[in-house]
Amino acid sequence: MMLKCRDVGQLLYEYVEQLLEPSTQQALEAHLADCAGCVAFINTYKQTIRLSSGLQPTDMPLELQQKLRSFIKTKLSSRQPSWWQRLRSGLTGR
Ligand SMILES: [Zn+2]
Repeated sequence: MMLKCRDVGQLLYEYVEQLLEPSTQQALEAHLADCAGCVAFINTYKQTIRLSSGLQPTDMPLELQQKLRSFIKTKLSSRQPSWWQRLRSGLTGR
């Protein structure tokens, strides 16, 4: 199973939340081993989640955290990778 960058965008939420099946996760990690752009994006994504999920809970109300998470999840499951490609190309300059 070969993943493309747009597939990584769609699997990102499940990957970070560790919801992927082992074979899918392996395929994703194989892609990451060869794609600096996706690695950079995943790191940024993880940082966003971390910032929004509890280091300083008083800075962001729980309701807002949940809204942010569901917003991200909705975006990721929308099967429209254009937002992701824009963001990714913004990160990598490509
Ligand atoms: Zn990629």
